[in-house]
Amino acid sequence: GGNTLTLHRFPLEQKNRSLQAWDAADEYLVDYVLEHHNQAQRILVLNDGFGALSCALLSTNAKRQVTNVSDSFIAHQACQYNLIENQLDDSDVRYLDSLSALPNDVDLVLLKVPKNAGFLAHQLSLLSQLPADIKVIAAGKAKEIHTSTLKSFSHYLHEPTTSLAVKKARLIFSETTAKPVTSKFPVSWPLEKTEFVLTNHANVFSRDSLDIGARFFMNYLPRGKKPLKVIDLGCGNGVIGLLTLQHMPNARLTFVDESAMAVASAKDNITQNLPEALERCQFIQNDCLSDFTSGSADLVLCNPPFHQAQAITDHIAWQMFVQAKHVLKKGGELRIIGNRHLDYQDKLNRLFGNCKIIGNNKKFTVLSTIRRG
Ligand code: SAM
Repeated sequence: GGNTLTLHRFPLEQKNRSLQAWDAADEYLVDYVLEHHNQAQRILVLNDGFGALSCALLSTNAKRQVTNVSDSFIAHQACQYNLIENQLDDSDVRYLDSLSALPNDVDLVLLKVPKNAGFLAHQLSLLSQLPADIKVIAAGKAKEIHTSTLKSFSHYLHEPTTSLAVKKARLIFSETTAKPVTSKFPVSWPLEKTEFVLTNHANVFSRDSLDIGARFFMNYLPRGKKPLKVIDLGCGNGVIGLLTLQHMPNARLTFVDESAMAVASAKDNITQNLPEALERCQFIQNDCLSDFTSGSADLVLCNPPFHQAQAITDHIAWQMFVQAKHVLKKGGELRIIGNRHLDYQDKLNRLFGNCKIIGNNKKFTVLSTIRRG
């Protein structure tokens, strides 16, 4: 709508820069809001991918205050960057993570429908706690808006209506009622072969059961009494770091994930399962190991992700490996699990000049590589 913005995806270094930082649903939503709700000043925006919605709302002459709610560290970083790139005022945006209580002083709610239906349900539950009669307009790819998506809206909010599809995007219109509906998250389940119970917030990777990669990786985790500095990179619910703490009674563990719900779940899981180990732990929401001190870690453990913002890509895994090398001490080890077909072995060989297979099955490989130089 109206003004032309230049928007970048994050992280900036990724290879596939041709992917857009916005989509047809963003455009549809912005056009609709500027046409029908131009008076709305205090706008709550949920799941703005790279800041496209926040930037567009602040790029007109109308006075607005945007609250940008996201589970993603990178989404907030991208929004800040794109605002500045477009000479917009970052102080007009308040950033909240997905676990924070929502503000009550809201004129309009805009929501990008997340792929994860449980996370959507959780967010709708949070919206159901707001005062009544606030308009909620959601947007998404038409093919990702199912009957079950609309059912979720009617469960937590007013019965929704939908727009026509435009460029394969659709809008959902609803509003808050005076009836708060509680969320069923977090969910908990026992971790097989252990005494532990894992708690998972709604947007955590493999929230409902143990990831099959993690299950295989469990057999190849380090043990011993050395006081090593270990990083669980892309920690999710913290399962890898939790087991490492148990088997390495003197290790210090840093849990890192870009998802606020992952970092919170990891912290909950140490607190509930190994409270005595909590003083050996740190929990950090970050884009991989950006800004970590070079040469500061003995061991990085990682079950890397292979998609971001609905695009299949291995650039995050590559970023993790490059940054792990930087953060490891000389002689330090990066130990990862990957799908065999992703051929991380070749990547690690190129990067570190060495790579050893320490575990293998039909689907997965566990690889170990040492920082030599
Ligand atoms: N360690 C957990 C396990 O084994 O079950 C989760 C592994 S999951 C395959 C990958 C994790 O990486 C996800 O929790 C995801 O949120 C996280 N992640 C994705 N991109 C990231 C980034 N740029 N920085 C940090 N973590 C990221």
